[in-house]
Amino acid sequence: MVLIFAETWNGTFKKSTFEAVQYGAQCAKSLGTEAVAVVFGAASDDLAALGAYGAQRVLHLTNASAFEPIAYGTALAALASQHRARLVVVSATANGKSLTPFVAGAWDAPAITNVLALPTSFAPLAVRRGAFSSKGLEDASAAGDRAVVGLVPNSVGLGTVGTQTAAVEAVETAAAGKSTSVELQVASGKIPLPEAERVVSAGRGMKGPENWNLIEALAQELNAGTACSKPVSDIGWRPHSEHVGQTGIQINPQLYIAIGISGAIQHLAGVSSSKTIVVINSDAEAPFFKAADYGVVGDAFEVVPKLTEALRAFHA
Ligand SMILES: Cc1cc2nc3c(=O)[nH]c(=O)nc-3n(C[C@H](O)[C@H](O)[C@H](O)COP(=O)(O)OP(=O)(O)OC[C@H]3O[C@@H](n4cnc5c(N)ncnc54)[C@H](O)[C@@H]3O)c2cc1C
Repeated sequence: MVLIFAETWNGTFKKSTFEAVQYGAQCAKSLGTEAVAVVFGAASDDLAALGAYGAQRVLHLTNASAFEPIAYGTALAALASQHRARLVVVSATANGKSLTPFVAGAWDAPAITNVLALPTSFAPLAVRRGAFSSKGLEDASAAGDRAVVGLVPNSVGLGTVGTQTAAVEAVETAAAGKSTSVELQVASGKIPLPEAERVVSAGRGMKGPENWNLIEALAQELNAGTACSKPVSDIGWRPHSEHVGQTGIQINPQLYIAIGISGAIQHLAGVSSSKTIVVINSDAEAPFFKAADYGVVGDAFEVVPKLTEALRAFHA
């Protein structure tokens, strides 16, 4: 069996969950075993719909409390032992990253984190992962007959989605959490950065927060999330939730547009796995151009409005 942690946010699934389920299902197929998604707590989404992503069964831990790495890790490890699982797949979201070591510890299994691709072998498990803050790639293998895989969101993407439904079984868990959610405030109307397929990001070259309307207009045309460099959030031009890089959020969207960002190594560490990188910078010597697929040497205040206008015309 391959178990997949099917994470929910406010009871609903996000793309990274579907991606993890599909990844686990592909592994299960190669191993000739079944793919089983595990959902914790109340869920408003249809759990059976995880079948469309390849899960044959869904185990619904109906009495699970709010997310806690130790409680969830203990519960997943108990299921993995009970069902003699070969693999546990966890998407490397903020919660998933903290959960992975606890599952591995409680299940006494090796954990390979930062995984970017499907395994190239299952005996032993061999898989490619990002290393050195995603500045390098490493081929890692796990000894033994069990492992936990931490899959980077957006790394393998979503393939064909089927129409099958999964059998849902309600299960009780003894692993109770010790904390309670008292109040939850959710930023609405924004595309969460780790989920975003497209990201428009800007740095100190934008001169001040009053100019971010240019960035937001471009992001809106592209249906993209907005991000920024560290100094921009440090000086309060943008919220810290937009800071990407080594010390911020690490992302790997299909398209990353970097505007007025120099391309320091600490910034690149969080964005260099983006599939296509476009750099707009007035300095032709800016280091970011070395990491770019496409570059525009020019003043952001001229280039960005023209790009937004061209996209608007294209969409019209
Ligand atoms: C331990 C450590 C961790 C760090 N972690 C991070 C991190 O996670 N993320 C991060 O981003 N940084 C991080 N940094 C900071 C990093 O080293 C850089 O200082 C930072 O990324 C620079 O931000 P910037 O590119 O916005 O600003 P700058 O370096 O000031 O670059 C501004 C750029 O804008 C260009 N520009 C200026 N005017 C225009 C214009 N009109 N049109 C177009 N382009 C223009 C300039 O040519 C320049 O390239 C970290 C540093 C340290 C020491």
